[in-house]
Amino acid sequence: MTTSINQIVDDDFVRALPKAELHAHLSGSISPSVLQGLWKRKRAQGQCLDLEDPLTAIRQGERFVDVVSFFPLFDKYIYALVDNVWAVKFVTGQVLQDFEDDGVGYLELRTTPRENLCSNMTKQAYVTAVSETLREWNESRRLADSANSVIQHGNMIARLILSIDRKMTAVQADEVVDLAIKYKFPREVDDKSAIHLGRPLEAPVEERFVVGVDLCGNPLRGEVSTFTPAFGRAKRGGLGITVHFAEVPQSSTGSELSTILSWEPDRLGHVINVPQQYADIIKKRKLAMELCLSCNVLTGLTTGGFAEHHFGRWLKTGCAIALSTDDVGVFGSPLSNEYLLAAKHFDMPPAALVWLSKSAACASFGGRKHMLELIRRFEQRETGGGQDATEL
Ligand SMILES: [Zn+2]
Repeated sequence: MTTSINQIVDDDFVRALPKAELHAHLSGSISPSVLQGLWKRKRAQGQCLDLEDPLTAIRQGERFVDVVSFFPLFDKYIYALVDNVWAVKFVTGQVLQDFEDDGVGYLELRTTPRENLCSNMTKQAYVTAVSETLREWNESRRLADSANSVIQHGNMIARLILSIDRKMTAVQADEVVDLAIKYKFPREVDDKSAIHLGRPLEAPVEERFVVGVDLCGNPLRGEVSTFTPAFGRAKRGGLGITVHFAEVPQSSTGSELSTILSWEPDRLGHVINVPQQYADIIKKRKLAMELCLSCNVLTGLTTGGFAEHHFGRWLKTGCAIALSTDDVGVFGSPLSNEYLLAAKHFDMPPAALVWLSKSAACASFGGRKHMLELIRRFEQRETGGGQDATEL
């Protein structure tokens, strides 16, 4: 790694640095002001009169008592506001814009397919709504993977990860995988495997953006072996696998971690309470990490402050790391700020942050080429057209 970038790490640098965001939940990434717009609209229609103003209900950046107190915010509040197809499309578009405004060049947005019987929103309709919004977005940004596209800084590509929630049944998890396969990004379409898997009818090709499947939700709930068949199908279907891993001690038992690692995940999220024998497996397999500084500190998942975060330890292992926001709407720390925190607490100079951005790009399920081109152009600008400042 060289340090030929003549910059200091400040707000401007971390915003201008093209970044890949790989661990961002759609519902948790909605800003309070966007939710307030929905809330006002509903109240004008006589709905949601019992719900508090989002600007006071969500106090961005405040610490939670613990991670368990975090989940009701979604089940009892955000899902009540984002409860129909129109609202899903509206908030998805706003979230995409917020990430691009922060200098994200490639986004893998994740979401759990939800239904709402009152508004006739099925899980299929939910995924279609998100996919249509991504199609409109990507078309407007001239896809980097189309033959004649021109990549410009700020032209963010968006892909989708569908999440299985730990409270789901095996049947519900299978439904998520069905949708993921139906909406799988057509990168390496294998007709033979489609027949073998009994793949459902595929969605229109222009609306297929799913690149992976995730396991998320309250880490105190669920028995992960329930989901082994579902993740097996996702893997055989050619989807990337990412899992919220070892978030709390109760979800870090040998049995749970062994089961998850048997799914052959590509990436692990959070990776906090990892016994040494599993850390050794992760290092040996060179699994990629999605690490979220503000989220972990504000929910008390990690002890101590930013400087004590396990990011510092994993950084030395050679595993790819994707610094990520998790739920920027709640924690109030955009991805650029997460890079700033890494620079501040782990003494990372500008070239190291460029390296970190490349590391995230290489861990992505489909954005590597686009991101490395964006970063190459950024380096050229920063070094006055000289050689690349960093190497992986
Ligand atoms: Zn998460």
